[in-house]
Amino acid sequence: MRKLKFAITSKGDPTSNALKQKMSTYLQDFELVYDEEQPDIVISVGGDGTLLYAFHRYSSRLDKTAFVGVHTGHLGFYADWLPNEIEKLVIAIAKMPYQVIEYPLLDIIIRYRHGGKETRYLGLNESTVKSLVGTLVMDVEIRDEHFERFRGDGLCVSTPSGSTAYNKALGGAIIHPSIHAIQLAEMASINNRVFRTVGSPLILPEHHTLTLKPVKAYDFHVTIDHLTVMHRDVKSIQYRVAKEKVRFARFRPFPFWKRVSDSFISDGK
Ligand code: NAP
Repeated sequence: MRKLKFAITSKGDPTSNALKQKMSTYLQDFELVYDEEQPDIVISVGGDGTLLYAFHRYSSRLDKTAFVGVHTGHLGFYADWLPNEIEKLVIAIAKMPYQVIEYPLLDIIIRYRHGGKETRYLGLNESTVKSLVGTLVMDVEIRDEHFERFRGDGLCVSTPSGSTAYNKALGGAIIHPSIHAIQLAEMASINNRVFRTVGSPLILPEHHTLTLKPVKAYDFHVTIDHLTVMHRDVKSIQYRVAKEKVRFARFRPFPFWKRVSDSFISDGK
């Protein structure tokens, strides 16, 4: 029988590094193989930010890798195992066939006015666009039809699992990750008698494409999760639900709404 291959990413602090070491030893005691290049399962030890890093590290093999998160800080959306549960988690990984659940991702394509090769990214949480200087001015198109001209600080397009992150701080809705959709949220739009945007977050289904087209300035800071990249001479930025999905190894039920409640309300009831 083929041995299960695993990798562990750590936030890098002493607690996370010590847990990484411990889990690695335990899993190898169960005859699992440590393989940083081609793991079947990736254990992220730290927080949601650590899982974002792990996702991007292994984004070229999403169909072959499942993720699981251990949190060494506060409860996370992607990291929901406690440090004192790692023995239980190791046994579950080693012994049980695990259930895999899939969450939708964001497909991002940036095209350039000079016609060079387009850039493609996959986002687990969101992508934001801000101008380098001054107000961001973008024409927003939905399914290639003009929707509005946005003027403001920036725009944020998020996945359902990313809807609890930056999107939430912008007043966006929390979307259950079983819904295949993307959400557009505004950052401080200018709204007066001259300039007008819809003002509400928009939720687009799987078969709709959202395109941002620059109006005057063509250089932008584009974020993809924790990464910020400057893009110059941009013709358009296209967003849609990606064909790829992220796969999480599930060993016990931990409903999404319970995670929302525990993270943001935490009334202990
Ligand atoms: P960071 O600034 O160090 O941390 C951002 C915070 O967002 C951390 O507390 C992180 O949790 C949490 N987070 C990440 N993904 C989440 C999710 N899906 N649901 C709920 N909370 C989540 O940055 P980072 O660690 O590199 O993470 C990048 C993320 O920061 C971006 O994807 C963006 O969503 C978020 N961000 C939020 C704001 C805002 O809320 N105003 C502004 C900029 C960026 P952990 O502590 O568990 O890692």
